[in-house]
Amino acid sequence: MDTSLLIVGSLAFDDLEMPSGTYVDVVGGAATYAALSASFYSPVRIVGVVGDDFAEATLEDLRRRGIDTEGVEHAPGKTFRWRGRYADDLMSRTTLDTQLNVFADFQPKIPVSYRDTPFVLLGNIHPALQVSVLDQVPKPMLVAADTMNFWIHGEPKAVGELLSRIDLLVINDEEARDLSGMQNLVKAAADIRRRGPSRLIIKRGEYGAVLFDEAGIFFIPAYPLETVLDPTGAGDCFAGGLMGYVARTGDASESTLRRAMFFASTMGSFCVEDIGPRRLWSLTRDELSARIEAFREMVDYGGGLLVPE
Ligand code: AMP
Repeated sequence: MDTSLLIVGSLAFDDLEMPSGTYVDVVGGAATYAALSASFYSPVRIVGVVGDDFAEATLEDLRRRGIDTEGVEHAPGKTFRWRGRYADDLMSRTTLDTQLNVFADFQPKIPVSYRDTPFVLLGNIHPALQVSVLDQVPKPMLVAADTMNFWIHGEPKAVGELLSRIDLLVINDEEARDLSGMQNLVKAAADIRRRGPSRLIIKRGEYGAVLFDEAGIFFIPAYPLETVLDPTGAGDCFAGGLMGYVARTGDASESTLRRAMFFASTMGSFCVEDIGPRRLWSLTRDELSARIEAFREMVDYGGGLLVPE
């Protein structure tokens, strides 16, 4: 059985202005974070674009992780660049500069060898391009997508079309409020699910994430950390870990998705521990297993009656 995950999204160079210092030319991009995270669970295939300045050695490093890079297009020019500045408490950030470069003309082309991939994660790119990917993959078992306020406000029609074509939307609370026009997240979730995706995950940063689906509502906390250095890419690691886990099981059931939430949150927690995706490169399977076990204990109340008799 094919347990691969197809990820479409940005590969980038990021400049990160953090309270701990400024870090330039950090290899990033939503597809990079999501693929590194998912690669702990399943074979990954990525589709994106890089320029002449993107080192072949980086792609080789990704391949060594079981990430197939055949779908990474090489275009003449510079790779997508993003520069962000974080507030001292790391709770908010400002985009200082976005240079689309080769990303400006990006038209995802899914290689023939990727077309039967059973699980698909559409990273945050123009919603029309996300839909164009779905036109090229005949029958995936589960399609998840991310989007952002920029598209919700700028391309509402294309976002509407995207919603009607996906099974699972993974966004943050602010995006859920913007998309639905509702403040209350339970109402917002009902509204968004009416518009297409039967499943919705709302990420809430250090407050965890909430899944809304046919089986009800499921909540996963964020793993409590003493040291947080850089939240960049945490959402992509969450989505990548989630879909990597689902792909590995080959089963898109509600119970699998609930278990996948543990892995997703755990991967998000590793991501923020160091600058850029550094921690994902250094992470070992033993460290991952230990944290998942600690996580499980953290939410295990013992199974007794919660309401006194
Ligand atoms: P996140 O922290 O989850 O928003 O993801 C951060 C990553 O998204 C960075 O590595 C950026 O390179 C990438 N990124 C920022 N803006 C965009 C954009 N407009 N389109 C695609 N990727 C982006």
